[in-house]
Amino acid sequence: MLSNFHTHTVFCDGASTPEEVVLSAVRKGFDTLGFSGHGHTPFDSSYCMQDTAGYLRTVRDLACQYKDKLQILAGVEEDAEYLLNRTEYDYLLGSSHYLRKNGVRYPIDSNPECFQKCLEVFDQDVLALAENYYSFFVDYILRRKPDIIGHFDLITKFDEMGESLFLKNPDYNRLAVAAIEKAATAGCVFEVNTGAISRGYRTTPYPSEPLLSTLHRIGARVVLCSDSHHADTIDFAFEDAKALMREAGFREAWTFCNGEFVPYAI
Ligand SMILES: [Zn+2]
Ligand SMILES: [Zn+2]
Repeated sequence: MLSNFHTHTVFCDGASTPEEVVLSAVRKGFDTLGFSGHGHTPFDSSYCMQDTAGYLRTVRDLACQYKDKLQILAGVEEDAEYLLNRTEYDYLLGSSHYLRKNGVRYPIDSNPECFQKCLEVFDQDVLALAENYYSFFVDYILRRKPDIIGHFDLITKFDEMGESLFLKNPDYNRLAVAAIEKAATAGCVFEVNTGAISRGYRTTPYPSEPLLSTLHRIGARVVLCSDSHHADTIDFAFEDAKALMREAGFREAWTFCNGEFVPYAI
C-alpha cells in the first residue's frame, strides 16, 4: 500500500504541477494520492492558495482522468488560525504554523530566522513557546476534529541545526506528550510526516519518538505522509519512517479509501 495525503503543488508553495505529481505517483506505484494545498489565509498570502477554485477543478479533473490507475483526492491543509468550508474538500488536514502573542501572529517554520524571532518574542523561554503552540493547536483539534492532524510537533523543525532546545529536553518532552495525549482524545488520525527530512532539516519524521510511542500506547491511528513540495519526493524516506513506526510498536498504518480510513500492514 502506497499513499500520501500531504502534497503541495504550484497552486501554493510547491514546485510541481498537480499532473507532474500524479505522473510521479503512477510511476512509483501509488494506490492513493491526496492533494493538500495550503488553505488561503487572508493575513499571510506568501505560501497559500490564491486560486482555490482552480486547484479543486484541476485535481478533480485529474481524479477522473486517472481513475483507473490511482485514487486521487482533493484535500486541503487548513491552518488552525483560519477555518475553511470543509465541505468543499475530500478531507481536512489540520495544521498549525504560527505562534501568537499580544494579538500578533509569528510564523514558526518558514525559515530558521523566523524561528529565532519566535524565541525572542518568548524571551528564549522554550517551554512558554511550546505551551503557546500546543495549547492553541490542541484546542483547535478538539473543536475542529480534522480528518488528519498535520506535523503535530512542527516547532521542533530546526531542533537538529544547533543546540537541541526541544528533543533532548525532558521538560519539553513531558509537555509535548501531555499535549498529544489530550489531542488524541479527539479521535483524529495523526500523520507521520517526513517533510523536514526531505528538506534537510531533520533526520527523523514528525512526531518525534516519545510522541510516536505515546500515539501507539494510547491506540491512535497514523497515516504516513511526505508533506511533499516536489513530484519526486512524494514517498521520501517512507521506508525509514515505517521502521521507526514499527520500533514505536505500530504494526499497521491507515489509508483513506472510499470515504473512510482503513488499516494496512507495515
Ligand atoms: Zn504544514
Ligand atoms: Zn504542508
